[in-house]
Amino acid sequence: MNELFRAIPAVDICLAALCEADPLMIDAPRSLARDLVTAFWDQQRKAIREGRYSTAGQLTLEARLPDLLAHVRAGLRSRFSAALNATGVVVHTNMGRSVLAKEAREAVITAATGYCNLELNMETGGRGSRHALVEDLLCRLTGAESALVVNNNAAAVLLVLDTFCKGGEVVVSRGELVEIGGSFRIPEVMEKSGATLREVGATNRTHLRDYRAAINENTRALMRVHTSNYRIVGFHSAVPLPELAELAKEYNLPLIEDLGSGSLTDFSSFGLPNEPTVPSVLAQGADIATFSGDKVLGGPQAGIITGRKHMIDKLKSNPLTRALRCDKLCLAALEATLRLYLDPEKARQSVPTLRMICRTAEELDKAARSLGTALRKSLNSSPETSCRISLQADVSRVGGGAFPQYDLPTTLVCLKPAACSPTALKAALLRTDPPLIGRLEDDSFCLDPRTLDVADRPVLLRVLREALALAANGLI
Ligand SMILES: *Cc1c(COP(=O)(O)O)cnc(C)c1O
Repeated sequence: MNELFRAIPAVDICLAALCEADPLMIDAPRSLARDLVTAFWDQQRKAIREGRYSTAGQLTLEARLPDLLAHVRAGLRSRFSAALNATGVVVHTNMGRSVLAKEAREAVITAATGYCNLELNMETGGRGSRHALVEDLLCRLTGAESALVVNNNAAAVLLVLDTFCKGGEVVVSRGELVEIGGSFRIPEVMEKSGATLREVGATNRTHLRDYRAAINENTRALMRVHTSNYRIVGFHSAVPLPELAELAKEYNLPLIEDLGSGSLTDFSSFGLPNEPTVPSVLAQGADIATFSGDKVLGGPQAGIITGRKHMIDKLKSNPLTRALRCDKLCLAALEATLRLYLDPEKARQSVPTLRMICRTAEELDKAARSLGTALRKSLNSSPETSCRISLQADVSRVGGGAFPQYDLPTTLVCLKPAACSPTALKAALLRTDPPLIGRLEDDSFCLDPRTLDVADRPVLLRVLREALALAANGLI
């Protein structure tokens, strides 16, 4: 065993060999490269102790250089990377939710490249407010008296409850106390504000009389929460918004609506179910409506608060607002996205999230056929990448808690690899650069064209060939 340990080369010798093998290594940060080399040989020392090496020849630099190079390259690579989304889930939380429109990307670059007027009062040249940048646009697009943007919608809910309900009670239907993914539970965030939740009704049914009976001298607000990623079907009833607004008015209480995804688009004209839009809930009497910037709206991560001016003014003066504020990149992207909504048809064409949600079954069928043909040509020329390729009618989801359980018709391109399992292919596609995320369905690896861009076709073909070769050679 000592002989095996002695075969391990010195770190400096390894570093020199790496630079010779790959000139890009010369510019690598020295201390990080050194630590990666050390970690690689520590792994081999462990393997020696476990009896997984028998001869010193297996441990020479020559024998291990390709593995060492791969290890160091992986360690030097940026953790953040682009990824191809073939899942068909448009607002995919694990993949960054919304893709920004070109106009929004350009605005981010402008804001990031030099100084900007983030908090400059353009009349006096003195201190202005970052909140003013998008407020007018939000009012115009939602019909609200005033608006405020914070870091995300969870922050928006926290801020609203902290401002109006701290130390008191907020009445919410039991059917709306939901967990929305990533173990994020609405009731837990609400309680962090120091407000007490007064749950009313049963999971499936809540009546106006339940809200009325819960109101007492400690009540600070009535609240509705969009149930996002789940839906109660069957024996179910909720109180219509106008009736709840009437009750709130009777007791002089604010009515707060957490819309979650919060759309400015009436999707019913595109054949989707009628989801409440921000303008509609405000028009029906909600005093405050909060929603996300990066769900169906298709902008950057943000929490948008719209509603009555006297309430928004109170939110602005809460010190918590300073802790939850969003940065210049977010505001630049949000303003550019909102400007597209001034022309709803332009928004539908230019905001990628809207465009992908609205892609028709015929368009996707055509895209699937074209992708299938390209894959056959690209993969089936070599035995190790060869696949049986078929098309299958299926459904995609909007994601992000919008339109729960609603099926968007699509056509999947399904791959059955000849030389590996679909599961091995899925795993191999996590290792490619960029990685590709797809779906496993009925023992096939499937690509949904809804969330793929034709411009990415050459990259998609390359990573599939690389992953199939990796998996076929048992390297996964
Ligand atoms: C998504 C969601 C949130 C959280 O919004 P983020 O922008 O992710 O912080 C809050 N409430 C509801 C109902 C949601 O769907």
